[in-house]
Amino acid sequence: MRVVTDPAELRQASPPPLVLVPTMGALHAGHLALVRRAREAAGPDGTVAVSIFVNPIQFDRAADLEAYPRPLEADLDRCREAGVDLVLAPQAGAMYPPDRSVTVLETSLSKTLCGATRPGHFDGVCTVVLKLFNLFRPAAAVFGEKDFQQLAIIRRMVRDLDVPVDIIPFPTVREADGLAMSSRNLRLSQEQRADAPRIHRSLRHAAGRPDREAMVAAAREGIESPLNRIDYLELVDAETLQPHPDPGRRALLAAAVFYGEVRLIDNQPVAPAAG
Ligand code: AMP
Repeated sequence: MRVVTDPAELRQASPPPLVLVPTMGALHAGHLALVRRAREAAGPDGTVAVSIFVNPIQFDRAADLEAYPRPLEADLDRCREAGVDLVLAPQAGAMYPPDRSVTVLETSLSKTLCGATRPGHFDGVCTVVLKLFNLFRPAAAVFGEKDFQQLAIIRRMVRDLDVPVDIIPFPTVREADGLAMSSRNLRLSQEQRADAPRIHRSLRHAAGRPDREAMVAAAREGIESPLNRIDYLELVDAETLQPHPDPGRRALLAAAVFYGEVRLIDNQPVAPAAG
């Protein structure tokens, strides 16, 4: 496995096709499932690449950026064991010149859900992902459906800017009790960790309700606990991410929930017949 910290070293060619898994590190079984999917797409002779970069420009809260776990050595061990060929783990200074002045701006899909409460977040995500695409020049890149809005926005960016990268989605990987795996789970107290599976459980049960109001009400009732605070809970169109989806279209029940300073997200698809 080749590990580089200087993005310029990526100019050295790797066997094609190259399939990229962009991450912020603190790798868990969810990330490793994306790596396996990348290997499937790259084939045994292609290159599976992982980027590990806690991207400062996508954080809206300084405390969240500071507290984000960075267990680099353990991450590299996991990548090695998973058969990754190439890792980029740069410092922020190597990615962003101090006088940088160009950003990717998304003006529609990023206005709801996480984008509504995290201003600038998805512009930071788009900017770093486009940079990673330019550095690695991958044939394909794998993104998790846990971050459904991110996936939709990356797809839109690739479409609108004619970026020649196939976007491969991957279903949410969960702990045995249903909690969506996340690097942020490491920051939950034991009590918060025991409470957090209610998010997935409630979204799943609520998605079976006959109409939108009942769905959102049931999910809210199930998720709320003395240990958390709901940031948002919404039923949105699965493609446009706009609220109040047409009952005939695929929808998504999506939530962000704070446990103390730790913000967890999850989502549940809703069949088109509902509503
Ligand atoms: P992150 O390191 O949290 O930025 O995530 C890197 C990639 O892994 C993103 O495409 C995420 O959507 C994906 N990912 C993170 N957690 C999960 C999970 N539990 N299941 C599936 N994909 C995930």
